[in-house]
Amino acid sequence: MTRSQPLIECQREGDVLDALASARWPDRVDRELADHVASCAVCQDVVTVASAMQADHEEARREANVPSSGQMWWRAEMRARQDAIREASRPVAVAQGVAALGALTLAGVAVWFAWPSVHNFFSTFGSSGEGQATTFSPMLIPLGIAMGALLIVAPVAIYVVLSEK
Ligand SMILES: [Zn+2]
Repeated sequence: MTRSQPLIECQREGDVLDALASARWPDRVDRELADHVASCAVCQDVVTVASAMQADHEEARREANVPSSGQMWWRAEMRARQDAIREASRPVAVAQGVAALGALTLAGVAVWFAWPSVHNFFSTFGSSGEGQATTFSPMLIPLGIAMGALLIVAPVAIYVVLSEK
C-alpha cells in the first residue's frame, strides 16, 4: 500500500491502543511506534480519540471516589463488623492462655510421674552415679521444672490476655 492513498485503517492501530491502555503513551512507547504515529493520520486520530475517552474515564473514576452517603454507611458498617470480630476473638485468646497453662501443667505432671523410670534408666546406665543420686530427692527436680515453667508462662499468658483489651 502507498501512503498517497487515504487510509481508513492502520495496522499499527492495535499497538497504539495497547500503549494507550497500559498508560505507556506517550512517554514509555517504542521510538519506532512514536515515529509511525507522527507520520500516520489514522494513528494520530486514534491517539486523539482514545486520549479523550481515557480522560473522560479518569474523571468518572475520580467522581466515583468521592465518598457518597452509601459508602460512608458501608465503611461504618465494616468498622462495626471488625469491632465485633475483635470482640469475639478475645475469649479465644483467653482460652488459648488457659489451654497453654493446662498443657504445661500436664507436662509437668507427666514428667513428675515419668521421673522415677527415667531416673532408674540413668542410674542403671551409669553404675557409678548412685552416690550422687541420693544426695537430693529426684522428685524435686520435675516439680522445680514445672513450677519454673509456670512462673515463666503465667505472666506471659496474663500479659497477652490483658493486652487484648
Ligand atoms: Zn498508523
